[in-house]
Amino acid sequence: MASIFTKIINGDIPCYKIAEDDDHFAFLDINPNAKGHTLCVPKKEVDKILDMDEASYMKLMAFSRKVGLALEKAVPCKRVGMTVIGLEVPHVHVHLIPLQSMANATFQHKENLTPEAFEKVAEEIRAALT
Ligand code: AMP
Repeated sequence: MASIFTKIINGDIPCYKIAEDDDHFAFLDINPNAKGHTLCVPKKEVDKILDMDEASYMKLMAFSRKVGLALEKAVPCKRVGMTVIGLEVPHVHVHLIPLQSMANATFQHKENLTPEAFEKVAEEIRAALT
């Protein structure tokens, strides 16, 4: 069965889209650690990041770097943290999280955003990409 992220990539489930290329898709995390928390996902479904072949892994990192640089421009923060976990969704994804403090990196403190706030930050990140 398709993963929830494949359903998002295929447009079967809505998301706040940030970017896409032939092999990757980026969108806002729906339960963010901080405003602007973004997930970068390879379109090919692989469960664990270390199971990716090296070339695909490097391409995912290059895509995540591009999105991360835009995020850093768009959302005021001390730095953008990159994390890979995957305990909830078994489809590789890189978390890009604007950090003010360690609390934003712990996945224990969540930010409540309205749909308008999600859309606004998505637009700001997209604008910083161009
Ligand atoms: P993990 O697999 O532990 O790295 O966490 C999966 C992440 O995906 C969590 O931060 C969730 O909030 C996020 N997530 C799950 N479903 C969705 C969705 N439909 N749209 C955006 N983010 C999601």
